[in-house]
Amino acid sequence: VPSERDILDRLRRFSPGIGDDCFVYRPSPGEELLFTTDLLIEDVHFRRSTHSASDIGYTAAARGLSDLAAMGAAPRFLMLSLALPKWADSRFAGRVFAGLREHGVPLSGGDLSHAPLLICDIVACGSARRGTSLRRSGARPGDSIYVSGSLGGSALGLAIGHGRALHRHLRPEPRIALGEYLRARKKATAAMDLSDGLSLDLARLCRESGVAAEIEAPPIFPGATIEQALHGGEDYELLFTSHSFVPLLHKGVPITKIGMIVAGQPGAVLLNGRKLRALGYDHFARQK
Ligand SMILES: [Mg+2]
Repeated sequence: VPSERDILDRLRRFSPGIGDDCFVYRPSPGEELLFTTDLLIEDVHFRRSTHSASDIGYTAAARGLSDLAAMGAAPRFLMLSLALPKWADSRFAGRVFAGLREHGVPLSGGDLSHAPLLICDIVACGSARRGTSLRRSGARPGDSIYVSGSLGGSALGLAIGHGRALHRHLRPEPRIALGEYLRARKKATAAMDLSDGLSLDLARLCRESGVAAEIEAPPIFPGATIEQALHGGEDYELLFTSHSFVPLLHKGVPITKIGMIVAGQPGAVLLNGRKLRALGYDHFARQK
């Protein structure tokens, strides 16, 4: 079992704020702060057979950062609480931190403990100009619906366990630059990140906005099925609505129009004119 001091010494090398009782953040005037927290638990959200230590650190941070991207926030800092099982030594903890650091966002605090299973609890803080953060509730009939990138890659990677799709599953890229662009340029009326599958997440966005949606098939990750693209989780692409001009590409990330917001039963989604059931991530969990 690694000693707390051993792990803290590793942290101190790249996280100079660690050592005081609290981390002090001084927001600038006119800035609003956004916070999100996310749990990553062994055998619930990942397995040791698929995720290395650095994959775990990377993924924990990616999930929080994707939530910041969803609202157009610029990441400011991360906090990580880590509970380690007996098999995890301090080098393992160091590799978790290394995976987290791949995102280039400061790690400003956290906690260490022991548990029978590995548990990562991440807090991500971002900021935006006051009053400009993107919400799920702003979509209106007549808005176009867009997704970034392609969908289903993460579900495919989990299913087949190799290749580009597995990389996609282990190293999803939070769409931070795109989120900030959409917010700062007032391009999106509503936005969220796709963590639980398009069918479920689009229904959630529509419910928050009190509207319905009519879509066609989304862009599909090479090799994935339409079911994986519609219902597979953990792609961490952005889903947003807009009534202004949206480019087809932003900093190398494709943006595709997949449909329109319409008036109707809040949360109802039609795919090619047929009701799309919100199966989402739970469905895939049960199939495995
Ligand atoms: Mg989210």
